[in-house]
Amino acid sequence: MNNYDCIIIGGGIAGITASIYLKNANKNILLIEKSSMGGTLNKISEIHNYPGFSSISGPDLASNLYSQIKSLEVPILNDTVIKIEHQETKNVVYLKDKKLECKYLILATGKEARKLGLPLEDDLIGKGVSYCALCDGGFFKDKDVAVIGAGEAALNEALYLSNICHKVIIVNKYNEFKTETDILDKLKKKGNVLVLYNSLTTALKSKNSKLSSIIVKDEKEEQELEVSGIFVYIGSTPNIFSNLDFELDGKYLKVRENFETSIDSIYAIGDVITKKYYQLVNAASEGMEAAMDIIKRLNKE
Ligand SMILES: Cc1cc2nc3c(=O)[nH]c(=O)nc-3n(C[C@H](O)[C@H](O)[C@H](O)COP(=O)(O)OP(=O)(O)OC[C@H]3O[C@@H](n4cnc5c(N)ncnc54)[C@H](O)[C@@H]3O)c2cc1C
Repeated sequence: MNNYDCIIIGGGIAGITASIYLKNANKNILLIEKSSMGGTLNKISEIHNYPGFSSISGPDLASNLYSQIKSLEVPILNDTVIKIEHQETKNVVYLKDKKLECKYLILATGKEARKLGLPLEDDLIGKGVSYCALCDGGFFKDKDVAVIGAGEAALNEALYLSNICHKVIIVNKYNEFKTETDILDKLKKKGNVLVLYNSLTTALKSKNSKLSSIIVKDEKEEQELEVSGIFVYIGSTPNIFSNLDFELDGKYLKVRENFETSIDSIYAIGDVITKKYYQLVNAASEGMEAAMDIIKRLNKE
């Protein structure tokens, strides 16, 4: 059985960056990705806030990253990790038909935005349906949009969008918001924000393959709202391995300053950890930090 210095699970920007640093330090590593290299990048139509590119599509950035690790000869395995196990001196990674061992493990498995689960939703991602206002809000300048959600994230993003869009309609399925801040007061002072309570989004409609309206239902009636975009904030689920007893913050992995989890020799980076901002630059930077810490520890052995 091959005993790796480090196995990185997840080939998004966080895992790829970690693999670049570890490979440059000549460590024996393996990067495992179950789907497309680049991860979430492949779902982003355009990126305007990544240093070095005034604008680049997510798939193009993913392809650049892939070329970079190919030229560095980073060993890549296209497979799904189904379980991990921590033992005293090693970690074991289980794939469907084999297991691999390593000294250090980096979890860079990202998170999945919770979807509404409505017909057309997947087809309209990037064509009116978004899960990230910071990323996609600019495409809806002076247009009418809806924010769907009842928590702090939905309110924050609605505030952000209210400075860009013509009108922002917040669709909350409850009769109040889950917030402990004064953000709702701030939103009420905005002239272009409308809040609908006890309202459920029940359908999406499209014209020319783009979102054109949503159907919203409250206790009394059903109405059709014409919007160019919807921003869905009904939570997200980090991809953790729940068979291990990690310390969590909500559903997210808690890490120390060096990005090690509560379990010795298992690190976590990117969208799977608890943090303030979920962006590409900090995911990449966390990849570097975890890798450097592991390199230092390996060099001391
Ligand atoms: C629509 C959208 C637009 C965005 N726009 C921007 C933007 O403009 N600017 C910005 O800075 N940020 C943006 N973000 C946020 C940014 O994309 C993320 O913060 C970043 O991509 C997270 O990178 P990551 O490597 O942590 O996770 P991911 O890119 O999600 O990578 C995780 C990878 O792990 C793999 N994986 C998971 N489980 C397993 C397993 N068991 N076995 C093997 N592989 C596994 C997944 O397949 C995935 O490829 C956007 C996010 C979204 C959703």
